[in-house]
Amino acid sequence: MKLDLKDKIALVTAASKGLGYATALGLSREGAKVAMCARTENDIEDAAKRIRDETGGEVLALTADVTLSKDLQRIVSATVQHFGGLHILISNSGGPPPGTFETLDEAKWQVALDSTLLSTARLVQAALPHLKSAGWGRILVITSTSAKQPIPNLILSNTLRAGIVGLCKTMSQEFAQYKITVNNVAPGSFDTDRLKHLYQRNAEAAGITLEEAKRQMEMKIPLGRLGDPEELANAMVFLASEAASYITGQTIVVDGGQTLGL
Ligand code: NAP
Repeated sequence: MKLDLKDKIALVTAASKGLGYATALGLSREGAKVAMCARTENDIEDAAKRIRDETGGEVLALTADVTLSKDLQRIVSATVQHFGGLHILISNSGGPPPGTFETLDEAKWQVALDSTLLSTARLVQAALPHLKSAGWGRILVITSTSAKQPIPNLILSNTLRAGIVGLCKTMSQEFAQYKITVNNVAPGSFDTDRLKHLYQRNAEAAGITLEEAKRQMEMKIPLGRLGDPEELANAMVFLASEAASYITGQTIVVDGGQTLGL
């Protein structure tokens, strides 16, 4: 199988840690030139350096907040200016906070809307002319299994991720004529900082150790463990590649078997 990612130019948002970082690293390992962003300058510079040191690839670190339209436009322009084009767009963001319908006010809905659904729409809006002029493109969004099976106490994610799936499906139909595929990858439970905070909270609430809270989480996963971010990145890299040329408009679940439903 030929991934054919050499000479491809990718932009990965929210990428100093976790799933975004693993995806940027995976793309660089396969020879893509990678621009990556996060809000904290030191963290994104360090992350880019680690990737350069490991892969010897070209990596551009950018500071940006994906909730801001002007930042998204700026990082797309900076990527194109630095590398001379754009082929692969990976839309990732910080996850929306937990809560139920009755505990979340309108301000929280607005922040979550900006950071998930609208950040993807705005990023694609800024990048589309460049993907079209390349005559080849991949758009990938990191979503969540909440788009398939709502998760208790995560109403913002349950609602907005489903919206992103609708957005991606529609864009896949509209952009196929430009040889641009659009897919989203739905992670289950991966061992990242975000998940550590979650089982830390569970441990405190239940008065149990961190290890016990993690074990309880793992027991709900048929494969019996949390995912390694690299296992999510492997699916992302494949979908970003030439090898995935006939896959578009799909939600690819990577969850160790956790999500029920056909
Ligand atoms: P993580 O380890 O906490 O990393 C989040 C990354 O996003 C960091 O690099 C962070 O850097 C950056 N970031 C956060 N808010 C940002 C913003 N407004 N603008 C730019 N960058 C931002 O998170 P993760 O576990 O990799 O999760 C990534 C996404 O996958 C989230 O949307 C999460 O909900 C979703 N997801 C994760 C899992 C899982 O098991 N981990 C499961 C389902 C869905 P800065 O803070 O410096 O900006």
